[in-house]
Amino acid sequence: MVTRQSPMTVLPGIGKARAAAYARMGIETLGDLLLHYPRAYENRGDVRLLSETNPDGKSAVLLTVASEPKTVRLRSHKSFLKFRAFDESGTCEIVYFNQDYLKSKFPVGSVYRFYGKVERSGRSFKMSAPAAEGYAEGFALPPYRAVYRMTEGLTQNQILKDVEAALELLAADAVDPLPASLREKRGLCSLPYALRHIHRPEDRESLLIARRRLIYDEFFTFSLGTSMAGRRNRSASAPACKRQELTPLTERLSYTLTDAQVRAIDEICADMAKETPMSRILVGDVGCGKTVCAAAAMLIAMQNGLQSALMAPTEILARQHYADLSPLFEAMGYSCALLVGATPAAEKRRIKAALAERDPEKRLSAVIGTHALLTDDVEFAFAGLVVTDEQHRFGARQRARLAEKSEHAHLLVMSATPIPRSLALVLYGDLAISRIDQMPPGRQRVDTFAVDESYRERLNGFIEKQTREGGQVYVVCPAVEEEKDAGEVDLYDILSECGAPRERAPIKNAVGHAETLRARFPQLCVEVLHGRMKSREKDAVMQRFAAGEVDILVSTTVIEVGVNVPNACLMIVENAERFGLSQLHQLRGRVGRGKRKSWCILVAGDGVGQSAEHPSRRRLDVMRTTYDGFAIAEQDLAQRGPGDFLGSGADGTLRQSGGLSFRLANAAEDGEILAQAAEDARELLSRDAELAAHPALAERVQEAFTLEEGLIS
Ligand code: ADP
Ligand code: MG
Repeated sequence: MVTRQSPMTVLPGIGKARAAAYARMGIETLGDLLLHYPRAYENRGDVRLLSETNPDGKSAVLLTVASEPKTVRLRSHKSFLKFRAFDESGTCEIVYFNQDYLKSKFPVGSVYRFYGKVERSGRSFKMSAPAAEGYAEGFALPPYRAVYRMTEGLTQNQILKDVEAALELLAADAVDPLPASLREKRGLCSLPYALRHIHRPEDRESLLIARRRLIYDEFFTFSLGTSMAGRRNRSASAPACKRQELTPLTERLSYTLTDAQVRAIDEICADMAKETPMSRILVGDVGCGKTVCAAAAMLIAMQNGLQSALMAPTEILARQHYADLSPLFEAMGYSCALLVGATPAAEKRRIKAALAERDPEKRLSAVIGTHALLTDDVEFAFAGLVVTDEQHRFGARQRARLAEKSEHAHLLVMSATPIPRSLALVLYGDLAISRIDQMPPGRQRVDTFAVDESYRERLNGFIEKQTREGGQVYVVCPAVEEEKDAGEVDLYDILSECGAPRERAPIKNAVGHAETLRARFPQLCVEVLHGRMKSREKDAVMQRFAAGEVDILVSTTVIEVGVNVPNACLMIVENAERFGLSQLHQLRGRVGRGKRKSWCILVAGDGVGQSAEHPSRRRLDVMRTTYDGFAIAEQDLAQRGPGDFLGSGADGTLRQSGGLSFRLANAAEDGEILAQAAEDARELLSRDAELAAHPALAERVQEAFTLEEGLIS
């Protein structure tokens, strides 16, 4: 029987080549294909007269074929097919290249809905290779047509056809993992309905119904997964760590701790003094000084004869922590090692042996590393404390493994995402929260400006000036490379009632924009960094930027991870209207970390920056006037919903903070669905902690969280 797990090759006409093309997009099974939701929809329902079409975008027209299609042969073995068609406003010449077989498709008198670019040529019109759908009186054509993310070797038509075939084949496999009671309670449609209509919406209503169900699913699976993965065994015990003098640490610092840091350390100490394992998250803006709090906690564990571990999401960050902390620890008489993927095998063996060593003389006191610390053969003889930095960059699987490994240890996680309180409950339901809401004194403010395209030349001049003076520049773009066609609408547009697509500024993409900058600044070194690069490549580029070898780093939001480049003094965000405020705030935190006066320039796309009353412009204004991450986060939640905190980046792949990737959730109203899904998940788990009575649901959580592991960089 065909199931969601069946390979793509069970579909008619899919051979090795096409299966391979799909595999490149991570689509291996029919289930994967159905989860490949459209990235946008063509609005073909907006049928216009030829005379009223927009010459810049694509339009739908309803035309009657007026002349028999003729083949015109060219010398180069090429040919094109040509005929005329009309509506009440004019006549249009239609051509198709090298598609002779279409000849019989367009008999004179038949009516088609054509979709494509309509060019005016003299007094008549012209369309090249438009999409054509036969029209019959009384049978409405669907208004929206899915547009998919693509790769070489596939066409939109093929994907749509394959999706149809998959829907057909799977009609029998209609197990809905969501309990019927929940579907009823929340008024959600069935899964088969949702899948059919997200790919082939009958109308706007059915699309919205489908979307709501699928978003609920994403949140529900996410909530189940994070609760199940992050849940710590409440009856487990941990070694109580008596608080001792922290002066060995503080007297080695070149500064005094802020009140907020002292408070956070007090809270951590109180937790660690107990025999139940600490589960605490330390939240605070980039640069507020979380690392030293972690160091204090690690010291307390070590003072109690126990070991500490600090885990960072990337190798470069781990190295940075190691460089900062190991001299401090060594000076206090505690040994400290670095364990990352690139650590030579012999060295790894030595570190692992020293961690497992029971003799206190030979035992390693602290280890700093990446998720290399989570491998099975890493064992601690006397684990006291495990700290993870930038918690949201870790996958749920990794968190689960961490929870396992640290079952009898205290756990401290740190995050620079200032999560609003309400959302923190959903995301980190069983973690206690400490907040650092104060910056160390003397921090410079990163002056922030919102500008539009008309400032481009001045902006370039500013880049020139800053780099000439030895500063470095970040440029963040919302997309990696692909651009949307005019005339497509995304779900967000459809949601916003207005029907017609909003006028949108073209999106700057990192790869293309880097080219532009290279051409403009031939004397500078411009590099690109984005999420589709391999971790190693990313690390290498980032290293070179940190080392000052790169002048301008053009990237997507992947640079959010807390790497410190004190020499970077200018952050430019292109199409800033596309980013959430919290995201912008995070990006701004990348600069102003050294002595250089620093700036953040938010460039609004064309059409956005003109009026001060434009909502996007008002949002960007918040950035000019507010520098407190928590205040910004609250505003962001109110304005855009929770998507940003869940990490759905503008990076092509939507991914969120360590669960599965959200493919659909991004509109403002999703907050309510998230709250419902989280409540339902908690309620269900309180009755059935292992989802024993819901095997299909358990399977889905399992799948989603395995899949996600591959997405984490
Ligand atoms: P984050 O919270 O983003 O992880 P870090 O811990 O990396 O921030 O700290 C950022 C910088 O601030 C570091 O260079 C650190 O030495 C410095 N710092 C931390 N606490 C203080 C303080 N109380 N006064 C002055 N500088 C501090
Ligand atoms: Mg940090």
